[in-house]
Amino acid sequence: MPSVERARDFLTSRLFVRGVLLGFFVFACVQLLRFAEWARGRGPHVPRPESVAGLLPIGHFTSFFAWLKGGGWDTLLPAGLVIIIGAVATSVLLKRGFCGWICPLGAVWEGQAWLGRKLMGGRNVALPRWLDGIGRGVRYLIAAAALFVLIMVPLAEALAFRELPYMWVADLKILGGFTRPGFLAMLGVASVASVFFGPVWCRWLCPLGGWYSLLGMASPCAVRRDPETCIHCSACTEACHAFLDVEKARAVRSPECDGCMDCVRVCPVPGCLEARAPGNTRIAPWVWPLLVVGLWLAIYAGARLTGNWDTRLPDDVFRQVINSGLLEERTRGGL
Ligand code: SF4
Ligand code: SF4
Repeated sequence: MPSVERARDFLTSRLFVRGVLLGFFVFACVQLLRFAEWARGRGPHVPRPESVAGLLPIGHFTSFFAWLKGGGWDTLLPAGLVIIIGAVATSVLLKRGFCGWICPLGAVWEGQAWLGRKLMGGRNVALPRWLDGIGRGVRYLIAAAALFVLIMVPLAEALAFRELPYMWVADLKILGGFTRPGFLAMLGVASVASVFFGPVWCRWLCPLGGWYSLLGMASPCAVRRDPETCIHCSACTEACHAFLDVEKARAVRSPECDGCMDCVRVCPVPGCLEARAPGNTRIAPWVWPLLVVGLWLAIYAGARLTGNWDTRLPDDVFRQVINSGLLEERTRGGL
């Protein structure tokens, strides 16, 4: 393979794309901690990064449903709303593109799973179908329960929720929670399990993943196999981290497919297994991540240019809340 194509494939690989986005997210978290230090009078001022709002998806989904119910745009923490819209859009249009390419938490678990595949000769351990089915059923139950609760929140309460000072520092509270022994123990268990069984959090527990999986089923773009040219080498099925039997599918419609393009990349028959858009238009495996990330960046840029990304709260308000002792209080609610 010519070196230009090798470089192109590397730059559009999940390892690289997810690594860069994860690095950016970690940088934003560090900036938020530095902002808090400034608020406490312990360091220079740095701009408050809004993208860490992604750490509080359930809270921002409350705001999202309030917006859908006619409650208006959240001007206090609008970045959270933009992130939810981006995640929904990439899921609906590009097969859970958010889960497969953008989610920083998913990048961590996928990194562990990748390590496991390297150590165990190419595949994570597949659980018996019935056990995997129970695990995925649990995820959909959690997702349905969470969705029901969020939709049922009365509009007035949802609007009041986003005006709570508690909400404004929830990202900092969550970052602080990452150092708690309970979280570190859970991280350790999930990391070891992901090395063996693949990203267990994404597959069996994440309620957001459950919603995005179902949304992804409506995607107009999907991986399609041409049964006429398929030589049944099983390379695609073996490459699929979601344990889908790609070799037998005509079009991969499963909610578990996150459009990673691993199966397409390994197919030895040109044109046999391809991602296709409506009209049978081919989407090359290196173009797919560009579409996902491009759509994500377009939504972000649109929000920024129209003044719908940055908080309208002045820095001094954050300073007052951070110094009020709210951050040190033990969590009482669902944050
Ligand atoms: S390997 Fe193919 S079928 Fe499996 S998740 Fe990735 S894109 Fe979907
Ligand atoms: S990798 Fe390609 S040729 Fe091999 S089974 Fe899958 S679709 Fe068929």
